[in-house]
Amino acid sequence: MNLKACYRPLTLKEALDYLEEYKDKSKIIAGGTDLIIKLRKGNINPQVLIDISFINELKGVLEVGEYMEIGCGTTFYDLASCILLNERLKGLKDAARSVGSPQIRNRGTIGGNICNASPAADSVVPLLALDSILTLESKKGKRKIYLKDFFKDKGKTDIRDDEILTTIKFKTPTKNQGLGFYKLGLRKSLAISRISFSVFLEIDDINRIEIIRVASGSVGKFPMREYKIENYLTGRILDEDTLNTALEILEKDIYERLNGRNTARFKSIAAKGVFKKALLKALCLAKGGGKIED
Ligand SMILES: Cc1cc2nc3c(=O)[nH]c(=O)nc-3n(C[C@H](O)[C@H](O)[C@H](O)COP(=O)(O)OP(=O)(O)OC[C@H]3O[C@@H](n4cnc5c(N)ncnc54)[C@H](O)[C@@H]3O)c2cc1C
Repeated sequence: MNLKACYRPLTLKEALDYLEEYKDKSKIIAGGTDLIIKLRKGNINPQVLIDISFINELKGVLEVGEYMEIGCGTTFYDLASCILLNERLKGLKDAARSVGSPQIRNRGTIGGNICNASPAADSVVPLLALDSILTLESKKGKRKIYLKDFFKDKGKTDIRDDEILTTIKFKTPTKNQGLGFYKLGLRKSLAISRISFSVFLEIDDINRIEIIRVASGSVGKFPMREYKIENYLTGRILDEDTLNTALEILEKDIYERLNGRNTARFKSIAAKGVFKKALLKALCLAKGGGKIED
């Protein structure tokens, strides 16, 4: 290990100064739940760590007009217990609750989950379905990027060496809208997702789908939007025939994407059940509530 210093800035400005100075010789550490493992394995070898976990301005959830804005340093525990996130956003809270163990949820942050760019990053899937926008900041200024455009490859993102992901923003769901999430893991807790889906749905009184955004985890190189199924479902009445055709489209698409991998058959079939659960949860919330069993 080549580590020479760990800085603990108390403001974003101070953190950006360190980043500007050390750039690719440094690594940001938030909760450390991914980074420390990589350090110990020798997968990364920074000279300097910049610990952003003491910067209060990067933590918490704000309501800004019709948007919700989440600070990158918000932990899964804080997200899951945030009263500002309304019931229609249950899918995001469910994803936060599904991460690791209590210890991991107390340390792990939403910003770390996004920047680590794992295909199994649980909070990223509902954030994609919400069509979230990220703010990246450096000494040179701010830029915004849609989360759906942020991932470049497995573990690779669009972020530059001198940038910090500061906030994640999305429109607050309103009447007739809901966000569902479902995760398939090997166990009920402390389980990395084998497959996860999130669905954002807006539906009218006769069950016509006005808006649908579908996102998946662990069925590609990184969490991603499922445009084929979105395009098919948008504008249709949600009935059994429509759903069955949508499931066929999804199975074929995922099988082709994973073709050659020994999990392709299992995942393309199981994905249909996981997607359906997320869709039913979103539907239930869009219709104004009620309980859906896991
Ligand atoms: C036992 C265990 C169980 C786990 N279970 C799950 C699970 O069920 N679901 C799941 O999704 N994940 C799981 N994880 C992975 C991990 O907890 C999450 O990915 C977590 O969100 C990472 O956040 P962090 O704050 O700890 O990030 P860190 O480890 O501090 O950082 C991760 C990466 O992101 C970068 N980074 C962090 N914050 C920023 C920022 N604001 N701007 C720019 N770069 C940044 C760091 O430089 C680093 O490269 C698990 C991990 C462990 C050890």
